Amino acid sequence: MSFQSMSLQNGDRVAIVGGGPAGSFFAIHLLREARHLHRQLDVVIVEKRGPTDQGSDDYQCKGCNFCAGLISPRLNEILGAQGLVVPDEIIQGHIDYVWIHGQWKNFRLRVPKDAQMYSVFRGSLPGRRMGRPAGFDGFLLGEAVKEGARIQYGEVQAIAYGASGMPNLTVRAPSGEVVSLHASFVSIATGINAHCGFDYRDDGLIASAKRMNPAFVPGKSRKAFIFELDVGEDYLGRNINREIYFIEYGSKHLALEHTALIPKGRFLTVAMIGKCIDEAVLPRDSQRIVRDFLTLPQIDRILPGIAAAPLACACAPRMTVTTATFPFGDRFAIIGDAVGSRLNKDGLYSAHATASRLAETVLHDGVDKQALARGYGKTVKWLVADNRFGRMVFAVSRVAFTMPVVSRIMYQAFATEFKVRDERSRPLSVVLWKIASGTADYREVLREMCGYAVLRSILSGAVVTLRNVAFELLFGLKWGEYGRYPTVVLKEKREVLKEQLASGLGMELGKSPDFERMYVIKIRGSEEEIMEEIAKFGQPQARFVKLRFVDIRQVQGIPNQVGSVIRYRIPLAGLGAKLRLTKSVGFETLLYQVDERLVDRAKLIFNVTPTKDGNRRLSIYTAFDYKKGKGLASRMMWKGARLLFPGFVHDIVWNHALCTIKEEVERKHDHALRP
Ligand SMILES: Cc1cc2nc3c(=O)[nH]c(=O)nc-3n(C[C@H](O)[C@H](O)[C@H](O)COP(=O)(O)OP(=O)(O)OC[C@H]3O[C@@H](n4cnc5c(N)ncnc54)[C@H](O)[C@@H]3O)c2cc1C
Repeated sequence: MSFQSMSLQNGDRVAIVGGGPAGSFFAIHLLREARHLHRQLDVVIVEKRGPTDQGSDDYQCKGCNFCAGLISPRLNEILGAQGLVVPDEIIQGHIDYVWIHGQWKNFRLRVPKDAQMYSVFRGSLPGRRMGRPAGFDGFLLGEAVKEGARIQYGEVQAIAYGASGMPNLTVRAPSGEVVSLHASFVSIATGINAHCGFDYRDDGLIASAKRMNPAFVPGKSRKAFIFELDVGEDYLGRNINREIYFIEYGSKHLALEHTALIPKGRFLTVAMIGKCIDEAVLPRDSQRIVRDFLTLPQIDRILPGIAAAPLACACAPRMTVTTATFPFGDRFAIIGDAVGSRLNKDGLYSAHATASRLAETVLHDGVDKQALARGYGKTVKWLVADNRFGRMVFAVSRVAFTMPVVSRIMYQAFATEFKVRDERSRPLSVVLWKIASGTADYREVLREMCGYAVLRSILSGAVVTLRNVAFELLFGLKWGEYGRYPTVVLKEKREVLKEQLASGLGMELGKSPDFERMYVIKIRGSEEEIMEEIAKFGQPQARFVKLRFVDIRQVQGIPNQVGSVIRYRIPLAGLGAKLRLTKSVGFETLLYQVDERLVDRAKLIFNVTPTKDGNRRLSIYTAFDYKKGKGLASRMMWKGARLLFPGFVHDIVWNHALCTIKEEVERKHDHALRP
């Protein structure tokens, strides 16, 4: 038989087993490309789950496809390029920020302005949704139908070669009747959760595919756990607005590796993997895991009181871990999760990659085993390699995010990049973004992770961390139970913040003082609550700006009111300075100015502003000019004094102070709101 005669021809029937994303993508690509080649194909998608609404032209299937439902920027770009415009009613939430929650601090990554990331429901669950249960899979299936595919509802039980050498499917129709479906080519796109939670390697259909190609070995999978909480849009808007979280650790009793928190309308989807899930008996242990997870301190900090939210649904699907070997034979091939997907991320993108490549192969190269190996086999090899590199990437990042010391170094490196480097030259944050979003192949991620630019950032992070730890010890700054949050102001945002502060105070802040630092933190609390905490500045009960060797006391006036004076004294060095509150604007801004004994034109500003999500942002601005002195001796003396107050000490002290203020305010605020 000639090579050409083995590719799909006019009038051939193609059967696709499974109407999930892989099946729909395959149908769409196949039909579009066939039309381009002037070939007419009869494409039948066999889907075991029936439609939610029998009579309508909606292709939403009953139930769910067990997924966190995050659409990566890379997949979104592909959908756009192919004119597959996801309707607004399907998009449950746009994402602006991705947080990686590590042991030391949390990394906030901005979704690039030219990229889009969003969340969707895949199927019709959770059942409490209002209106039409619009899901991503139903949308794709509808697009496949628009291209000319037919849908046949029923479960494919087996595949075998018929007497003609063509594959033949045994389909159990919804009526219970068992029928045959002959095709010139079959694409198996069943995913691995046809029977949710069971190892698909034991599936009858997969066993029959093995008989058609004994070299085919299905990939391995592991247990995952997903649940949806019905928390309400207001709550999500306040606490996790246009953000998603990846939490990289659990607790001693809840050994988690990776958990995603994804807001969707009024629901929050939580998807997790880890040793505790591998070892759990599900669904028996579901309630316990949900409760233990929601009461973890790191979760309560992000989502206060979440443990009381009603559970809308839960499931324990399996997630692919390795890629199948030889997932094709004469006139059939396996795509999507049933072959494998990218480790821990972006499974829908892999489904698209395998589906589109197979469509090209069967139309251009052929449907026999050799042609499939040559064409489609390349994508399978890409997946094998990607997962191999992915395992290395995740092994390294687990160390980076879960070991407190390494996590602290990573955070410091990340924060330093934001502080001193331009937007376009932040190699570590680029790599972290690629890991978190799944927007790049893991080979590329690993290469960049081990590249000079990232290693240089990490090395400088290590040096800064060592120095900071030494100074924290010296000044007696303890973190204890306080959460650690980034307080760095991005280099490109500093001027804007400075202008806002200046206009709020109605004064100039000085173009380029010798020393200038800004810090910000988002706080869940009101202006009053934050100012109440700041009023403790210099008071014995204050938990922030308490330093060994430095006596800081409010010595005059009423806290937070003009005239209040805070005295700094270093008895050992015989040095001291006084900060006088010279201006206050409503509940928003306090301006302290420092007497000119040690420095000139010194200012310390506290400013509270509302954020778009109904919270507050506390900013701190501090700036001064060093004293210069007149004669040589005096100049030398002031130069020496500079060394006593290096800039980074302010970073350490104010970072600790802001995290402490945040924690104290939120603790009270959340306590007041709890039932
Ligand atoms: C916990 C978890 C979270 C995830 N989160 C994300 C995420 O946020 N983003 C992302 O991109 N990916 C995510 N994934 C991966 C993603 O869900 C899969 O990669 C994707 O669903 C694969 O699509 P598929 O079409 O191959 O399989 P599926 O989506 O499983 O679809 C298979 C379809 O085949 C049908 N079917 C099965 N057997 C038969 C049969 N015998 N006869 C007829 N029909 C049949 C099923 O009913 C189903 O409709 C996640 C996976 C898990 C487990």
